[in-house]
Amino acid sequence: MSTQPTSAPPRAHQAGVEEVRLFVDGQWMAAHSGRTFESINPATGERLAVVHEAGEQDVDLAVRAARRAFREGPWPRLTAAERGRILHRIGDLIERNKQELARLETLDTGKPIRESLEIDIPRAAYNFRFFADFIQSADTECFPMGELAMNYVRREPVGVAALITPWNLPLYLATWKVAPCLAAGNTCVLKPAELTPLTAARLAAIVQEAELPPGVLNVVQGFGPRSAGEALTRHPEVDLISFTGETTTGQAIMAAAAPTLKRLSFELGGKGAAILFADVELDQTLPIVLRAAFQNQGEVCLAGSRILVEQSLYEPLLQQLTAAAGRLRVGDPLDPQTEMGALISREHLAKVQAYVEIAAREGGRILCGGSSPSGLERGNFFLPTVITGVPPDSRIVQEEIFGPVVVVLPFRDEEEAVALANGTAYGLSNVVCTRDLQRAHRVAARLESGIVWVNCWMLRDLRTPFGGYKKSGIGREGGRHSLEFFTEAKTVCVKL
Ligand code: NAD
Repeated sequence: MSTQPTSAPPRAHQAGVEEVRLFVDGQWMAAHSGRTFESINPATGERLAVVHEAGEQDVDLAVRAARRAFREGPWPRLTAAERGRILHRIGDLIERNKQELARLETLDTGKPIRESLEIDIPRAAYNFRFFADFIQSADTECFPMGELAMNYVRREPVGVAALITPWNLPLYLATWKVAPCLAAGNTCVLKPAELTPLTAARLAAIVQEAELPPGVLNVVQGFGPRSAGEALTRHPEVDLISFTGETTTGQAIMAAAAPTLKRLSFELGGKGAAILFADVELDQTLPIVLRAAFQNQGEVCLAGSRILVEQSLYEPLLQQLTAAAGRLRVGDPLDPQTEMGALISREHLAKVQAYVEIAAREGGRILCGGSSPSGLERGNFFLPTVITGVPPDSRIVQEEIFGPVVVVLPFRDEEEAVALANGTAYGLSNVVCTRDLQRAHRVAARLESGIVWVNCWMLRDLRTPFGGYKKSGIGREGGRHSLEFFTEAKTVCVKL
């Protein structure tokens, strides 16, 4: 491997194995330390890529490049329309490269190719298109003081942002941060999760092709603690951090960012409930509950990983849910028919398995799944799993498992349903299924979560605020909420 920076992305390291470099100031760089790590295909255990691990020195170069691009480059000074044009170009290039990006995402995460093609990559393109347009229609406040003076508010970019993202929806979530950050005129350093480096590297190649000025988007690869992630959060020249990941990581980042008083936006863990009242038509509601539990192998912060069912519907729901879960096609993520792929890593598979054992010790009944499917031992596969019979304070009801494990609890009435749903430390999302409109509004108002879906799941209008109550996050992203986070508000008061 050459150590010289190049303007062209590196080619395959050896047959079938990519070399992933750091993208700094428009150049592809090896890490100064010479350190690399591997990205592994979760479905086969095979090596996909050799990735350069950014250390403090590399992060410092990336942050300085972003600072120079902010201070001296054209990006923050372009009009919204000019920035919008480039962001649209990036969205178009993502769409043009959809097949390749979807394949990379599936190889790297183990998620079904159908989901990469239909959800992850189209949404990544849409994130850019949405904020390209949104920034152009953004208005500002104005406060006249009679004949005396006029106040108006300027929305200015903040500076250099660190964008730190998880492995479950790599490009989808990275672009959810990059697009508003750039639309508002900031520059940034993106650090994708160490388990899924591939599509962030492709995004860097795409922004290069779209002629985003050098230094506006930099991508550093590496780990969290004592690696690229921590170096970014401590760096004095980073002004703001947008982070999506585990609640405990959010706590560590907050502590690391405190001495330099950075602005923070956190999208953290979840333990959402799907609440089913007895008036629903089960055949219409079941597909919603099933998707909320098992889409993306249950590796979704918004998953409905607790199903709360009104008593009279409890037995029919259990029966139909286990039958439907048992029919889900688990297997090769690259097969278009596959509905559930592999979990992200061996460690994560062991964690999910351990939760099933904990549930059994807590008195739970494993109605289906609970183990890896036979014949797929090379990958990190786990069967869709339904558990009942545990008390509300048990660990599998309280803790985020982030895998294809759903727990079902019965409730007597609305009061108990709300208490159960609110009875965890998290507060990201909930689902309410009922045909009673008044009850839907009443329950939605009482649930402690950033979003409540009624008779649906994962429907998203990007103008709406997105974020969590309690330990599920700080701040909101989406539409003007993203732009507020990524801008400073300056009041100009003019005496008339
Ligand atoms: P994680 O917290 O382990 O890692 C997320 C990112 O943070 C990675 O890039 C990692 O390298 C980095 N990181 C880890 N420790 C760090 C540190 N000390 N300093 C700086 N960076 C650090 O999370 P994960 O395992 O990648 O993702 C799963 C978690 O993400 C789940 O808890 C899930 O609920 C959450 N999530 C939340 C949302 C949301 O929108 N609320 C969306 C997706 C995932």
